[in-house]
Amino acid sequence: MSIRLLSETIINQIAAGEVIERPASVVKELVENAIDAGATRIEIVTAGGGKNLIRVTDNGGGIPADELALAVSRHCTSKLTDDVHDIRALGFRGEALPSIGSVARLSIKSRTADADSGYEVVVRGGHLEGPRPTAINRGTIVEVSDLFYATPARLKFMKTDRAESTAITEVVKRIAISFPQVRFSIAGTDRSPLELPASCNAGETVSEAAMLERISQVLGADFSENALALDSEREGVRLTGFTAIPSFNRANSLHQFAYINGRPVRDKQVFGALRGAYSDVIARDRHPVGVLFLQLDPAYVDVNVHPAKADVRFRDPGLVRGLIVGTIRHALAQSGIRPATSGAEAMLKAFQAQGFETPDRSPSSYTSSPARNWQSATNYRPEPPRQEWSPQTAHPAQRPLHLDNQPAPRYEQAGFGEAMQATISQFTAPSADSRAAEIEAPAELLRAPLGAARAQIHANYIVAQTEDSLVIVDQHAAHERLVYEALKTALEAKPMAAQMLLIPEIVDLPEEDAERVVAHAETLERFGLSVERFGPGAVAVRETPSMLGEMDVQQLIRDLADEIAEHDTANGLKDMLNHVAATMACHGSVRSGRRMKGEEMNALLRQMEATPGSGTCNHGRPTYIELKLSDIERLFGRR
Ligand code: ADP
Ligand code: MG
Repeated sequence: MSIRLLSETIINQIAAGEVIERPASVVKELVENAIDAGATRIEIVTAGGGKNLIRVTDNGGGIPADELALAVSRHCTSKLTDDVHDIRALGFRGEALPSIGSVARLSIKSRTADADSGYEVVVRGGHLEGPRPTAINRGTIVEVSDLFYATPARLKFMKTDRAESTAITEVVKRIAISFPQVRFSIAGTDRSPLELPASCNAGETVSEAAMLERISQVLGADFSENALALDSEREGVRLTGFTAIPSFNRANSLHQFAYINGRPVRDKQVFGALRGAYSDVIARDRHPVGVLFLQLDPAYVDVNVHPAKADVRFRDPGLVRGLIVGTIRHALAQSGIRPATSGAEAMLKAFQAQGFETPDRSPSSYTSSPARNWQSATNYRPEPPRQEWSPQTAHPAQRPLHLDNQPAPRYEQAGFGEAMQATISQFTAPSADSRAAEIEAPAELLRAPLGAARAQIHANYIVAQTEDSLVIVDQHAAHERLVYEALKTALEAKPMAAQMLLIPEIVDLPEEDAERVVAHAETLERFGLSVERFGPGAVAVRETPSMLGEMDVQQLIRDLADEIAEHDTANGLKDMLNHVAATMACHGSVRSGRRMKGEEMNALLRQMEATPGSGTCNHGRPTYIELKLSDIERLFGRR
């Protein structure tokens, strides 16, 4: 066959293959056009999952009659002049309408403010009809029907109507988050209607509150109760938005949103940074919830990487990653101790359901359901008492708070590692008293965020009281978190105290694993774990970190070998160390089932208050839940 230029229709269909993957891509393009046209109300109607009908109505500037034909021609756009690096609108490629017109029946009705009438063009099979006058208010109505009728191969790949209509909703929500001044509505025979009222006026700068209101319309009202505001800037790149506290996490990443200069993106680097920020506070199979807005000079980011405009390329990816990780970590640390409100909510529901039926544990439900904690508690093995702890031998900062009427010691962030180590070692020692005692609550302790410990129940839950609430702490989860933080501190400050084993423990391992563990012997030494080679396929463990107490050394070494294998990459050392710390913390923390004295419990509560991120354990589960007195009164029908 000789070389010839493809017909306009074929060229458009090829382009459509990239831009128009499914009905949701059509909706995305049309809604973006409406926003670019300055609309403040956008209505979307669909039928048959968008395959039969998509109609987008807006009240934007409209298209003049003499430009309607151009709008549906390839490479015709009103949004880009000569500089492809200066992209400020959502659209710029001039591709969407002609692409849609080549794979569906497309009708555009539009009227500008100064026109005496509206006009309509219709494109069918790449063939243009019109423009002809039509009745319409100011704005534009784009109607797409019989999508992919011209490309049956594509039609075959469509999912069910339901799946396609859900995908459309997702696309609209994703865009809506970054345009709170626009009212969105979606309706149709294939769905239940959704309304997202504008949360601020067009033209005014979007306040943090307006931003949060729109996000909550999309993510649910409880997001705002668990959200941390982000706002920071580095070298001309500004990051705003909200992320949720770690215990408010999800089973998938659908609740992660990122925007660059207002444009929704699905950029791997941005989402990777979001994950990275939470890497040591959320379990690997759970996903943080958050909305990130990046604002930067359009010249520093290339959005023209893919026709669907979802991927981007930053001029300085390291800067952007650092900004995201740093800002979120800072916000998490600042938030101090705070469990997900959904924990208390779920607890209320569980009580109100009369009895303890298992509340919703579907994969999408938040992990902070107390039912989950109750259930996991049954897996804990009680630990037999080993040695006597006395308040006098403890580190001065860790002596019980109200012994001998001494003033309560202050817990400060500084010198944290040492204080922590002492606290932890005191917890690894059992108390002599094995009854679940009720303890007195000095008034000043009631004012502390986690209050005064009053009792320990089921050998794992500390019941504490503040001035206006009841707090229940999962002692195992809390302890694990504290150990982990102490281990991390040990990496930066002085090494952890080690305890010599009477007889070195020999661990048999596959040779590669033994190799890996020994290769990191120096690092493990910092954690107080001393290992050396013991012939082929074995290592000898001579010392273990004192704060971990007695543990299964064999299992610890095997788990560490796995962690090292998985994370030992050239640039992942820090990551690996964090994972090693988490693994060790988990081994050292099977401390539920151990009775604690009142002073020990109060010391644990104070330590939690002083430790950033201690509201969640290393797996993102809450370490404590709080029921307000008002909630308790509600339970008893007093309110
Ligand atoms: P792009 O958005 O990349 O410019 P499109 O094919 O999506 O390309 O749209 C072509 C042109 O049609 C736009 O540049 C714009 O001028 C006009 N247009 C499309 N939709 C609308 C709308 N809803 N309101 C006003 N003008 C629109
Ligand atoms: Mg467009």
